[in-house]
Amino acid sequence: MSFNFIKYKRNLPKQRNIKTRINDFEDYNNYWSQKDLKEQSSRCMGCGVPFCHQACPLGNFIPDWNNLVSKSNWENALKSLHLTNNFPDFTGRICPAPCEASCVLNINNDPVAIEQIEKEISEKGWGNGWITPEIPVNRTGKKIAVIGSGPTGLTAAQQLNRLGHFVTVFEKDPKIGGLLRFGIPDFKLDKFILERRVDQITKEGVEFIVNAHVGVNINVDDLIKDYDVLLLACGARHPRDLDIPGRDLDGIHFAMEYLTHQNIINDSELDLNQKQISANAKQVVIIGGGDTGSDCLGTAHRQKVKSVFQLELLPKPPKQRTEDNPWPQWPKVFVNSSSQDEGGIRKFSILTKNFIGKNGKVSGLNTVKVNLDNGVFKEIADTEKIIPADLVILAMGFDKPDLGDVVKLLDLKLSQNDHVKTNSNGLTNIDKIFAAGDMVIGQSIVVSAIAEGRKVAESINDYLSNH
Ligand SMILES: Cc1cc2nc3c(=O)[nH]c(=O)nc-3n(C[C@H](O)[C@H](O)[C@H](O)COP(=O)(O)OP(=O)(O)OC[C@H]3O[C@@H](n4cnc5c(N)ncnc54)[C@H](O)[C@@H]3O)c2cc1C
Repeated sequence: MSFNFIKYKRNLPKQRNIKTRINDFEDYNNYWSQKDLKEQSSRCMGCGVPFCHQACPLGNFIPDWNNLVSKSNWENALKSLHLTNNFPDFTGRICPAPCEASCVLNINNDPVAIEQIEKEISEKGWGNGWITPEIPVNRTGKKIAVIGSGPTGLTAAQQLNRLGHFVTVFEKDPKIGGLLRFGIPDFKLDKFILERRVDQITKEGVEFIVNAHVGVNINVDDLIKDYDVLLLACGARHPRDLDIPGRDLDGIHFAMEYLTHQNIINDSELDLNQKQISANAKQVVIIGGGDTGSDCLGTAHRQKVKSVFQLELLPKPPKQRTEDNPWPQWPKVFVNSSSQDEGGIRKFSILTKNFIGKNGKVSGLNTVKVNLDNGVFKEIADTEKIIPADLVILAMGFDKPDLGDVVKLLDLKLSQNDHVKTNSNGLTNIDKIFAAGDMVIGQSIVVSAIAEGRKVAESINDYLSNH
């Protein structure tokens, strides 16, 4: 038994130099040397009872593939990884890594760098030509329409096709990928990583139809007639708004408008026919201290912003876990994202009272410091402050799916928080119509979307074997 976690400290590849990387939208991260790979994966060995996979929504067999990597058995490590995860090349780059939070080493040491190992395994797989289309040998003759091509829809489509069903994916956007393509910036997830998976799935036999907005230019009743099952995987993109005086001023945008514009500009095959929302030479304020806000921050740096604040209503988290937030729970502690490392001013406990404008355009925010007292935000006297701004980005999360099209037409039952209600198998209140992903569970993360896609594919397969 080796106890290499005593011998080797956690390390991560050195990120690209900040001054250089903010001049482009390329991956900010790097790869390890062979020596680092062996050492870092071997830190996992000698663990008594691994907790990492219970925290992973996919239940990834993390110690298994770490063991294989530490022995340079890459091909089997990739096989083990693919047993539970269709897209380790996505999660190996952008997962918040709940596995690392619950790694046993994280009790009193630094966790195994599981996410980086996952990325390295999948890149070895692509580099060596081990990731190829898995074309089903037999076809069942059953037809499934998947609506939405985010990670939930892509995973379900791949799983169902591999089981021999004919799958068609209908996507309202001009390109496949959902938030992977239009939300997450290229410096976190370069779009070629998405493209090669879409190519793999296409070669496996899935048909993709873009610019196909079900309920608008695709008749949902026709789909019900033509397909044995419909799977709704439409995401939850309705943004939280800030209903305060001045909200109607020009220059205040939702995060997804802002991020989508930059993702379209970066793609030479897409046409941006509206004026770009740019942070160039502007004083920018991002309202929302989470990951979406952080993606806006990284984008603003690359657009050469003049100054940028990221405001958060909640108090600054502590540096260390508090007693009521023990391991293996997700640690509610202060961390900086790669974009926050690049610059900008983060402020906590700040409430925006109203926007200020000049000639119909936003020119600032009237803010005040608040205390969180028994779940209620209370203003602190004499702390009002004006922050000048000529671009404001609202990044306060998403509260529900778009309910105006397919959900309304099908008269689907909703949960208390306005997401689509399903039974434990993903079936909605209407026979043969399933739903999964953010549309059902609410705003989430990619690893959960992949898990949702796998789970609902299994349920649909069971349903089809009885119908
Ligand atoms: C800016 C941003 C950054 C993020 N960063 C991360 C990150 O770093 N790591 C992480 O793990 N998670 C991240 N997330 C969360 C993650 O992207 C989502 O949880 C995940 O994409 C949800 O997958 P989904 O397939 O359920 O929905 P989506 O990805 O939203 O896909 C839904 C798809 O359905 C399509 N659609 C909707 N209605 C219709 C219709 N009627 N007809 C046809 N098509 C339709 C949409 O166009 C879209 O393509 C981020 C989210 C945002 C907004």
